Amino acid sequence: MPRKIKKIKYCPRGHSSEDFAYFDAHGRNMIYSDGNCDLCTKERFIQEFKTWSSGNVNIDKIIRESQINNRCEKLHWIPYDNLQNIEHIADGGHGSVYSAKIENGLKRKWHFIKQDWEYEILGIEVALKEIKDFRYDIAEFLKVSKIMDNYDCIGISKNPSTQNCIIITDLDDDLHNCLTKTFWDLEWETKIEVLASIAECLGNLHGKNLVHCSLHSGNILKERKFKIYDLRIDLDLCKLESDLILNSNNKNNKIYGLIPYIPPEVLRGSRFSKKGDIYSFGGIMYEIVTAQRPFADQAHDTYLMIDICNGVRPKVPDFMLNWIPEWYLDLMYQCWSDDPSERPTAIGLADLFREISDKIYDDIVDNNVMRQLKIADENQKNTSKSQKQELFELFSYSSKLHPQSRYIGRYIHTLHGLCDSLEEIKSGKSSDPNLLLKSNKSSTSNINTREIDEETDMLAKISLVG
Ligand SMILES: [Zn+2]
Repeated sequence: MPRKIKKIKYCPRGHSSEDFAYFDAHGRNMIYSDGNCDLCTKERFIQEFKTWSSGNVNIDKIIRESQINNRCEKLHWIPYDNLQNIEHIADGGHGSVYSAKIENGLKRKWHFIKQDWEYEILGIEVALKEIKDFRYDIAEFLKVSKIMDNYDCIGISKNPSTQNCIIITDLDDDLHNCLTKTFWDLEWETKIEVLASIAECLGNLHGKNLVHCSLHSGNILKERKFKIYDLRIDLDLCKLESDLILNSNNKNNKIYGLIPYIPPEVLRGSRFSKKGDIYSFGGIMYEIVTAQRPFADQAHDTYLMIDICNGVRPKVPDFMLNWIPEWYLDLMYQCWSDDPSERPTAIGLADLFREISDKIYDDIVDNNVMRQLKIADENQKNTSKSQKQELFELFSYSSKLHPQSRYIGRYIHTLHGLCDSLEEIKSGKSSDPNLLLKSNKSSTSNINTREIDEETDMLAKISLVG
């Protein structure tokens, strides 16, 4: 076994760095030098600051700080011509998503012997999110990513023809797509594992006083090569709770998100809170047991918002009730409580799902929670695949998805914002600005994405309402 010894290493420029060198049994040094020096690397990055700019001082500042301060995970300014094989994947709430290859890789470390950069992720596929929504604050996203040590964000680029900024991240699949593909093969063990993983991610966010504000199954991501429960949450619209409180003097006229996942208090115009994220989590619990997103069979309009505020919640199809433990349904409806203080906390959910997951692993059935789970799992296993498919066709995703449902982020008028015209909308005298006009608009997306906000439609509709 080689011995591991701490020693001081010097680069040709005289920078010293403490490093580990390995010696074999005879005391011979096995690794002399890797030709890298963190300080030389930092100096080279600083020298190159003048060679690029995103056009936004706040974004430049965050990228530069990460190149100076982060020893490992740095953000990069990525010239557009380094992105090759660009293919459109889908349109999202803030812009469009593409896949691309990073042709020449990213600068990793300065090699003082070769006097050149060493590159990483050469030719690797990544996701490009071209931001077309001028209200979306990229610097804010980068700030939150930094707080959460989110290594999924690789860097920023700019499309020279549109002048839009592009956020470059790992190429991931979203939970909705994973569930659609694998739902009938999922056992309770995996479902609980998935929920434990999401609740833990949410608990981490809340622990750092961040509120997600837009949690749904399209925002929960999985690296393609990983298992379904190796999840992370797209930080998208994440905000510091203190900033939300500062901005909450007045009620909101508009909010961004998906109506079925937005808690009633926010639909009414109040600010988003950690308890609001828990309401959204209820929507994910629903999809995990039904393979449906909440309110898939209804138009996502102002009428639905009023219904939600009056206590209407998504229903679990009767034929599925045998496959779901009663405590699970109770917990899901508790997340959906109209009173935010009655909803559980993310940490509470994470602890509960983790404890159940551990018991499933050790095959411990010591209480009612575990007994109900075992029965539900057996009931589901005892239903043949053909029976399941038959039932599913009756309750099929494609046939039941309402043409005016929308699972892609958009700006929504709150009931507070609509208060003057609400009676007219209800009586049909005014058109509903929250109703989608395009009935043939597909709302499926196959990756980490939300479709383009139909802002022009929205503006037309606002002028219709007056
Ligand atoms: Zn050096």
